[in-house]
Amino acid sequence: MEESFIKFLKILKLESINGFHNDAILGGIGKYLPTWQSEASDDHIPTPLIDEVSRFLEGYASLTPSDRAEKAKSLFHELKNFSTSQTSEAKNTSPATKMDQRQVNKDPVQHHHTNKPHTTARTSGSNIGLEAPLTVLHGVGPQNAKRLEKLEIRTLGNLLHHYPRRYDDYSHLKTIDQLKVNDEVTVMGVVQNIQTRDIGKRRLKITEAVVTDNTGYLRVSWFNQPWIEKAVKPKNQIVMSGKIEQYLGKLTLNNPDWEPLDQEQLNTNRIVPVYPLTAGMTQKWMRKVIHQVLGYWADRISEYIPSQCREETSLLPIGEALTHIHFPESEDLLAQARKRLAFDEIFILQMGLILQKHRWQSQIANRYPVPSGWLDQRRLRIPFQLTAAQQRVIGEIQQDLSQPRPMNRLIQGDVGSGKTIVAMSAIEIVLHHQCQAAVMAPTSILAEQHYNSMRAFLTAEPDALIREEEIALLLGSTPLREKERIREALANGEIRLVVGTHALIEDPVQFQKLQLVVIDEQHRFGVLQRARLREKGENPHLLVMTATPIPRSMALTVYGDLDVSIMDEMPPGRKPVKTEVIIPQYRESIYEFIRTEIHHGRQAFVIYPLVEQGENDDAKAAVEEQQRLQKEVFPAFSVGLMHGRLKPADKDEVMEKFRSKQYDVLVSTSVVEVGVDVPNATIMVIEGANRFGLAQLHQFRGRVGRGSQQSYCFLLPDNDDSAENERLQVMAMTNDGFVLAEKDLEQRGPGDFLGTRQSGYSGLKIASLTDTHLIEMARQQAKNIHQKDPELDKLEHEHLKEIIHQWWNLEEGDQS
Ligand code: ADP
Ligand code: MG
Repeated sequence: MEESFIKFLKILKLESINGFHNDAILGGIGKYLPTWQSEASDDHIPTPLIDEVSRFLEGYASLTPSDRAEKAKSLFHELKNFSTSQTSEAKNTSPATKMDQRQVNKDPVQHHHTNKPHTTARTSGSNIGLEAPLTVLHGVGPQNAKRLEKLEIRTLGNLLHHYPRRYDDYSHLKTIDQLKVNDEVTVMGVVQNIQTRDIGKRRLKITEAVVTDNTGYLRVSWFNQPWIEKAVKPKNQIVMSGKIEQYLGKLTLNNPDWEPLDQEQLNTNRIVPVYPLTAGMTQKWMRKVIHQVLGYWADRISEYIPSQCREETSLLPIGEALTHIHFPESEDLLAQARKRLAFDEIFILQMGLILQKHRWQSQIANRYPVPSGWLDQRRLRIPFQLTAAQQRVIGEIQQDLSQPRPMNRLIQGDVGSGKTIVAMSAIEIVLHHQCQAAVMAPTSILAEQHYNSMRAFLTAEPDALIREEEIALLLGSTPLREKERIREALANGEIRLVVGTHALIEDPVQFQKLQLVVIDEQHRFGVLQRARLREKGENPHLLVMTATPIPRSMALTVYGDLDVSIMDEMPPGRKPVKTEVIIPQYRESIYEFIRTEIHHGRQAFVIYPLVEQGENDDAKAAVEEQQRLQKEVFPAFSVGLMHGRLKPADKDEVMEKFRSKQYDVLVSTSVVEVGVDVPNATIMVIEGANRFGLAQLHQFRGRVGRGSQQSYCFLLPDNDDSAENERLQVMAMTNDGFVLAEKDLEQRGPGDFLGTRQSGYSGLKIASLTDTHLIEMARQQAKNIHQKDPELDKLEHEHLKEIIHQWWNLEEGDQS
């Protein structure tokens, strides 16, 4: 059917180029009417459509050029709608049919479609070729490959998933006489003249052209792109897209994207993708390269979402989704492409989590019951009453540990809700049963803090559960010899509790009988790191904690593999931290306030911010600030300094001095963001507060307000940007970590927030975790498939399994 269609579109195109003067066919395009009718019916084009086009052709001669343009445009849109609905109906037809319809779908000027290979049947059905290196592409040599690698694009598959960061809609084709200032349009025309001249002293070159399409003349300028004069000659037909501006009363087009008319339009006259790039790349080049990959793969990539699932969710096939995410033919198709790809991200995330949970839960674990009242008895040694939330969660843990299945529990509780003592209970139980436990924290400062408090707590008589020498601290920077000693003692069981950082999951570490793994501030780690520590024991019980409250909408997605306990209660007597955004001019008033508080025996943190360039500068900024504060601001007091580059022993000493009030003020980089517990500190000053996300600021604020004293948090943005300050005002309005997490998500997107970046899971580029509908849909589908085929062993799930492993970076069988 396409032949007739394409011919008609060709005529339309010609008309549009010539300004709708009815001269595309000798004697007027009405002459084409009989031919159209017979060819179109031979092609089985539906009658209403044949009639529609016939009416257009009949009436064309009697219209003015601008009316013709108008009619052509609306007809074109109808044709487009027609072919779109065809495309979605055609989902289950053969690839060849699908492709033909896509051709129809093109704008009238785009019918050159020779570069898409016809495939009548899917070949082997494997996407192995997508792992080919980029250099197999035309125009990509080692140098370009290197540039792409900076964007983490290494394979053809990576390239297909390098999604545009936005789109420019240049699908609105206009004739020159219809242009208005500020229009974002595509214009086609013939170049009348073009030349380049120098302007001003600064060697600025301007290339100017006049382009005509028979309805008028348009001035076009390009700045500092003199090569355009060589590429575009008078009489050439070109297509340009950009924004219409006015210069000296005349309409102009400045620095438009442009292409010769006779090639497939990638950069103009359509919804144009705009990609993230790095130095040395142009949009044009990126579009060409991606188009090249799509041209081959769009029709060959094998579908991995099982067909029943696709039917139930009415999602686009993967090849179409990828085509339209890059080169959407309409807003609607773009939306559908987004939906499909977002679904995939969540769905594969879900599938991976379910798979892991399943493998994990089919394991048998040792049971560690304790007599009733045993824990209560031990609780007598702490100077406070547990909150109801703490008691409830401890109960859940006790229950988990007495089951023959490995515990897999997340404690989610706002900063300061008292999670440590809850984790301690699990440790006590396992130690009581003579087994080993490991606690992993994201920073050495926090690991050190846990080490100190746990050692004190667990070795205290009466009823010490462990001796001093049975507990160890293992950090990345622990001296090699000490590391070796610890490893040996872990392997032979002499050490029963080890507290540490990532160093714990380094390979040589072996345990004799690891039965409990505790991970604090788990959002700083990933699923795979969790798994790696777990693997060091034989089906140990797992407890992870986070103070970063995940909005409810996301919790199930992100923690799909965990049982979740929520600690929604603060220890009694806590006063909400008073928070204020202070503009930098009033910094002195804060210093005055701090002096008064110090006189009352309190202490203060001053966070000196992360500077974009990296940790070096962080440290430097903090060092300078500490000197300034000590000398000029607080000469009568003692000001300590903490940053990531200090040796662990020094860090420990600094924290200890701050804890024991030898320092009144502690200047620090963001290393104290999580976990640090110094109840006597009541003031938190955050410089450069605008550089942090709300969830992060909430963590910092959580360093104060841990005792019964009134605490304060001052946020100092480093400029006066009112929008930024407004964002920060949310902090002043609420102390509720959930609310802040939701806001943060709205403002900044999921990003690192989930910790999925480090998890080995490479998805979540498009999906919004606030799209609860999509999430629910994906969860439901994942559950269905899991029920039918838990290990994805059925043939129909072969590709799905492959993709899950790919996206999750799973190696065979390493997850349980
Ligand atoms: P987080 O949940 O942020 O890890 P921590 O476990 O560090 O909180 O506890 C914060 C502070 O509150 C600690 O100083 C801890 O000793 C204290 N704390 C914990 N539980 C209670 C309670 N029930 N009553 C009073 N203080 C408590
Ligand atoms: Mg904590």
